[in-house]
Amino acid sequence: MNCRCGSTKKYTDCCKIAHANLSAVTTAEQLMRSRYSAFTMANGEYLMKSHHSSTRPIKEKKAIENWAKSVSWIRLEVLETSQGHPTDDKGTVTFNAYYFENGKVEVIHEKSAFIREDGNWVYLGLAETK
Ligand SMILES: [Zn+2]
Repeated sequence: MNCRCGSTKKYTDCCKIAHANLSAVTTAEQLMRSRYSAFTMANGEYLMKSHHSSTRPIKEKKAIENWAKSVSWIRLEVLETSQGHPTDDKGTVTFNAYYFENGKVEVIHEKSAFIREDGNWVYLGLAETK
């Protein structure tokens, strides 16, 4: 089975590497994909670890896990990326994340900002839209 992030690799060759070791992530897009697959697995631990410490919603961890478990994840669509390469220290990823909730298809459309913290790519929050 292919990894849930939408790559053609198996989970063990894809997001599992990130989930086991955040510092193995080399690009912002890779971090974004690994966070999506963490949502599909309700892996709150990784969602917190891959979140910048200044914006980390640690109090909501359990609620996030419960919500992530309660919906059926469909797929991730990466629409656009800027910077976020191995030599960058910031970047953005614009994506659609589709899921079923209460029998309806819902979509999270977001332009996310990623930066490095302690050398690792982490999610900062919504990117400024200009
Ligand atoms: Zn993956």
